[in-house]
Amino acid sequence: MRGVVWLRRDLRLQDQPALTAAFADCDDVIPLFVFDDSLLRARQFGSPCVTFMVTCLAELTGALAARGLALQWRRGNQIEEVLRFVADVKADAVYWNRDYEPGAIERDRKVQQALMTRGVVVHTFKDHVVFEAEEIRGSTGDPLQRYSAYRARWWTKWHAATPPLLSLPVRLRAQRADGSSPRIALPTVEDLGYQTVPLSITPGEKEAQRRLRWFLDGPIHTYVEGRNLPAIDGTSKLSPHFRFGTLSVRTAVHAAVGTLATGGRRSRRDVLAWIDELIWREFFQQVLSSFPQVASGPFRSKDGLPRPRPAGSELNRLYAAWCEGRTGYPLVDAGMRQLNRTGWMHNRVRMVVASFLIKDLRIDWQSGERYFMRQLMDADLAANNGNWQWAAATGTDSMPGYRIFNPLLQSRKFDPEGAYIRQWVPELATVPTDRIHAPHLMTCEEQALAGCRIGTDYPSPIVDHRQAREEYLALGKQEVTA
Ligand SMILES: Cc1cc2nc3c(=O)[nH]c(=O)nc-3n(C[C@H](O)[C@H](O)[C@H](O)COP(=O)(O)OP(=O)(O)OC[C@H]3O[C@@H](n4cnc5c(N)ncnc54)[C@H](O)[C@@H]3O)c2cc1C
Repeated sequence: MRGVVWLRRDLRLQDQPALTAAFADCDDVIPLFVFDDSLLRARQFGSPCVTFMVTCLAELTGALAARGLALQWRRGNQIEEVLRFVADVKADAVYWNRDYEPGAIERDRKVQQALMTRGVVVHTFKDHVVFEAEEIRGSTGDPLQRYSAYRARWWTKWHAATPPLLSLPVRLRAQRADGSSPRIALPTVEDLGYQTVPLSITPGEKEAQRRLRWFLDGPIHTYVEGRNLPAIDGTSKLSPHFRFGTLSVRTAVHAAVGTLATGGRRSRRDVLAWIDELIWREFFQQVLSSFPQVASGPFRSKDGLPRPRPAGSELNRLYAAWCEGRTGYPLVDAGMRQLNRTGWMHNRVRMVVASFLIKDLRIDWQSGERYFMRQLMDADLAANNGNWQWAAATGTDSMPGYRIFNPLLQSRKFDPEGAYIRQWVPELATVPTDRIHAPHLMTCEEQALAGCRIGTDYPSPIVDHRQAREEYLALGKQEVTA
């Protein structure tokens, strides 16, 4: 029997349900990846994300070739290309791991229907999450909207039905000493219409496994404090690996739970806090799959929230300053420049820049959501949309609309020495620590000494935070009483 494994966001060999099942059923297995032209043309994602994906595919191509398998690829309309390929190779069955984005669900439904009418068997698997939306419901059977309730049920389910890890299919275990399969050349990032950019997180399955081991041997044991400090390497930086499936989330949870047995009580708190983040990831996946309308708008009505600033030159000026990291708020600027240069931003700073865009600048959260999707290497509809809606107070479980991050206090608290700011905003590198968070407060003499003139070398604040906060809250009250 011949089976095609349609690879999508599962670019690995280990603990890979679709691949494992295909090897169990078929004597001939063909892995396939399709570059979706309409997605590439839409420019929803940017070069960091595409560079990461293509590099992961290159590694996977090599790993498969060493085991005698040639990864096949096509480019075009995904539905048409998959159907054509399956017909060309006369496959009996097609295997894939499920995707929960509304567009992907619709695409998969069409492919499945067309294959079934042609007599080709389709097998789909849970892979991208530990538990799918249907597996974790409230007592009424409805999807859960509160994270705390979701988390409690997630853990109950984990203890009741811990998902096993799949071992590598026997036929994939050994590298072939004999010549192996011809290695097929993939399109380059440039062929796909994007630019190859240097990546701050190394792609590929091998690196994902290495980074997981490194993280579990060290930083996870101080995660509660370390995760808030953008100047240190205190988080796993596995997000693009989860995005493209170079690491299975089950593997990560099993490994983290494994460390609970060896660490002390304090470390237990840290390990559980890290697993919490993986559960947030699943929570947002189930929000997207249960309420697909969030992909195009707010989950909750915007009543009581100030209307965004009207379109016009003032909005354009403020938005451009935010995108380029020229707001005059060093922590915000450091975050945006880290994002623009590396395709990644620390989570604490993501929260600060999101609050700043929505509340200080009063710009629609969807503009921020789109910008992040285009810049992030880990750009993921469920996590990005969930977090932006959380920041905007329009999500299922959000921070309250009246809670506004103070970018100066956040900066003093989480980057006390200004090391993160100095790294990404070099014009502030020699500003003394007691001025680094609010350099506009430097006297002329201090500016001369630091070699940084405010308004020339580094911008004055584009808005006054205290005033912007009061305006936001007052406009919110008007909306409630209107
Ligand atoms: C405005 C905004 C937009 C975001 N957009 C994305 C996005 O497009 N893609 C993305 O993967 N994450 C997104 N996040 C969540 C989070 O910032 C990143 O997952 C995290 O910074 C990745 O770093 P890490 O792998 O070192 O995380 P760790 O701290 O090591 O956490 C482990 C894993 O848990 C998951 N995770 C952690 N925090 C969150 C969270 N708040 N929500 C959902 N999952 C989480 C990620 O998969 C992460 O790799 C966003 C957060 C904000 C505030």
